[in-house]
Amino acid sequence: MVSVEEAEQIILAQTIDFGAESVPFEQALGRVLAEEIRADRDLPPFNRVTMDGIAINYQSLTDGINTFKIKGTQAAGDDPIQLSVLDECIEIMTGAALPDTADTIIRYEDVELRAGLATLTTDEIKQGQNIHYKGRDKKQGDLVAEPGCTVDATLIGFLASVGKSQVLVRKLPKVVILSSGDELVEVSDTPTPYQIRRSNNYTIKALLYIYGIGADMLHLPDHQETINTELKACLDNYDIILLSGGVSMGKFDFIPNELKKLGVAQLFHKVQQRPGKPFWFGKNEQNTLVFAFPGNPVATFMCMHRYFIPWLLKNINATEKTTEYAILDNDYRFQLPLTCFLQVRLYYNGNCQLMAKPIEGNGSGDFANLIDTDAFLEMPIQEADFKSGEVFKVWRFSV
Ligand code: AMP
Ligand code: MG
Repeated sequence: MVSVEEAEQIILAQTIDFGAESVPFEQALGRVLAEEIRADRDLPPFNRVTMDGIAINYQSLTDGINTFKIKGTQAAGDDPIQLSVLDECIEIMTGAALPDTADTIIRYEDVELRAGLATLTTDEIKQGQNIHYKGRDKKQGDLVAEPGCTVDATLIGFLASVGKSQVLVRKLPKVVILSSGDELVEVSDTPTPYQIRRSNNYTIKALLYIYGIGADMLHLPDHQETINTELKACLDNYDIILLSGGVSMGKFDFIPNELKKLGVAQLFHKVQQRPGKPFWFGKNEQNTLVFAFPGNPVATFMCMHRYFIPWLLKNINATEKTTEYAILDNDYRFQLPLTCFLQVRLYYNGNCQLMAKPIEGNGSGDFANLIDTDAFLEMPIQEADFKSGEVFKVWRFSV
C-alpha cells in the first residue's frame, strides 16, 4: 500500500511523448497548443475608426470652424477619402480606416446633418478621439499565445483573425475505458432486480471529452479467459487503459492477476485513501499505462481527478493548473488512517474566501451525491479532527 503522495509521484513519473498534430482551428477547442501564435500584422492593422460619425482635422476647430461640408461617405473596408480643405469632413463608419488628412472623429450624436453640411452640437472634442491606433494592441510578430495554452473561444477567434486555419496542438493519447462485472448491464437494458446499469465508463468518457479525448469503451465479464483475451487486445491497441472495477479483494476480481500475466508490471496496488483504496496502477514494456480504479463510482471519479487528469495534463504539456485550496466551513471527524477525500460544495463567503461545505453522502457507492457537490477536499492522513477554518487542497470536478 502506498500513500496518496507516493501514488501521485509514481504516476507523474511515467512520461510519454504523444507528439503534436495539425488540426483545423475550429476543432482545436480544449486542445493544448504546440506552437507559438503571433500577430500576422499590426493590430489593428490601420488607424481604425471606433464610432459612426464624421472625420475632421482638429486644426479646423482651433481655427473656429463649426460647420463642415460633407465631402463623401466612407464605409468600413473602403479606401480612405482624403480631406482637401479644413472646413470639409467625411461621413465615416466604425471599422473604417482613418484618412491621413483627418485626426479626429465626432460621433453622429454630436453632429447635426443638413443639406450636405455637418454642424457640431458639442464643444467637448478632444484631438484624436474615437480612433483605435494601428499597432496599439499588438505589433506584427508579437507573441499572443504560447505552447501549453489551452485553446478557448477567445483564442479560436484570434486564430481566425490571423488566418491560422490549421493549428499545431499536442496529440492526445488513445484511451480505452473498460468496465467490468457481470452485475452491470447496458444503459438501454432493463436490469434484473439485482443488476445495475453500468455508468462509470460513461462518467469517465464524459470527463475525457472535456480534454478532447474520444475514448473507446469495452465491457469485460467476470470471466478469467475473456478478461485475458480482451486485455491483451487493449494493451496492443491503446496508449492508456482506464479500468473501473474488478481490482478489489472479491472472488471475481481477476484483473490485477491477468494484467500481470500479460506483462503489465504492478507499480502499486492500494492507496491509503478513502474512497479509492483498491486503486491498481501498472505499465507494460511498451509503456502502455493501466489505471485500474475501484468500481465504486465515487472512487473512480475521485481517482480520475486526483491522478489521471493531472497525469494527462502533464503529458500533453499543458500549462500546470495552480493548486487550489478551500476553507472547511464545519468541523469534520475522520478517524481512519487514510487520506480522506471529502465531497464538498464550494462557495465564497463575504470576504471572497473559497469555502467548502461537507456533503458527505453514503460512501463511495453514492453517485447521486456527486451531483450535489463540486469538489473533493483532500484531508491529510495525519489528522483525525478537522476544524472549521482549516485550509485544505481542493479538487474541482469540472474544468
Ligand atoms: P468492484 O470494484 O468491481 O468490486 O465494484 C465495486 C462496486 O462498484 C460494485 O457495487 C459494482 O457493481 C460497482 N461498479 C463497478 N463498475 C461499475 C460501473 N462501470 N458502473 C457503475 N457501477 C459499477
Ligand atoms: Mg466487480
